[in-house]
Amino acid sequence: MKKILYLSVVVILTSCMPNKNKSKEINIYSQRHYNVDELQYQNFEKMTGIKVNVTKANADELIQRLKNEGENSPADLFITVDVGKLWQASDMGLFQKFEDKSVFENLDPQFLDKNGFWVPVTYRSRVVVYSNERVKKDDLSTYEDLANEKWRGRLLVRSSSNAYNQALVSSLVANLGVENTSNWSEAVVKNFARDPKGSDRDQVKAIAAGQGDIAIVNSYYIGLLLASEKEEEIKAGNAVSVFFPNQDDRGAHINVSGLALTKNAPNRENAIELIKYLTSVQAQETYVNNSYEYSINPSVKPDPIVQEWGEFKKDPVDLNMLGVKRDEAIRIFDKTGWK
Ligand code: FE
Repeated sequence: MKKILYLSVVVILTSCMPNKNKSKEINIYSQRHYNVDELQYQNFEKMTGIKVNVTKANADELIQRLKNEGENSPADLFITVDVGKLWQASDMGLFQKFEDKSVFENLDPQFLDKNGFWVPVTYRSRVVVYSNERVKKDDLSTYEDLANEKWRGRLLVRSSSNAYNQALVSSLVANLGVENTSNWSEAVVKNFARDPKGSDRDQVKAIAAGQGDIAIVNSYYIGLLLASEKEEEIKAGNAVSVFFPNQDDRGAHINVSGLALTKNAPNRENAIELIKYLTSVQAQETYVNNSYEYSINPSVKPDPIVQEWGEFKKDPVDLNMLGVKRDEAIRIFDKTGWK
């Protein structure tokens, strides 16, 4: 009897308390485009009972939407595959700070936002892949060397409207300055095997088809090709090797896929639960083994396919520079005719 009385008091008390998490849900605006994400959200829903609603679009569309919706936005979290877009949205005042030390203590400090707005989820390198048949590893060295005329008509890369390329060139602007990067881009465009088109995967397939000899692509796409169920994709993955540029100086360019709490996150507490989950060792292992990205937690090792490429030195430039220098990068693309 006593127990029943106690229980009913608890029920009455809790139902009177203001409950910030009335809805057991969370709304995400996401630019990520990988199957692993659905798996993560399913796992999270099972663990917490919090339903994850995802709106997918490209980062610019989502940023515009957040801006237009203002205080009425249903979004709690914004997720991108490019830290430059996280910087841009934070610079526009669309986020609130998130500085929970318990989340950050296990993460590599290189991947953290010094301004406290965004949280890294994974990282990746934009590498050079080369034809196993037509290129020797010793022929490659740095991003700068892609401007060498020995690559005339041999280099494959996607269009300059792509955020991955914009981030890479932003890193060059930060490291080498505007003029050097502009000269570099001009020479690189002359080395193109064809007008930029298609995805990163398409560049690798083009090497396999003999349309070019080297390509600039994100590291995990090689893992995804090799793990594919399509024979054509496995063949493409096997036609190339991965090369990390600039290992004798600053290191290879990296970018972060990350997220941020929106300014008015209506389901803030639920969103924080998801941040804690996605940065946990369990979720980090799910990422590395399904999307072939790298973990932001140094204790989580890459997938065996990725481990084969070896460890590499990473460009230590402040990741926010990939956003700060973005306008310069785009101006350089336009000026030098990188379509
Ligand atoms: Fe991608």
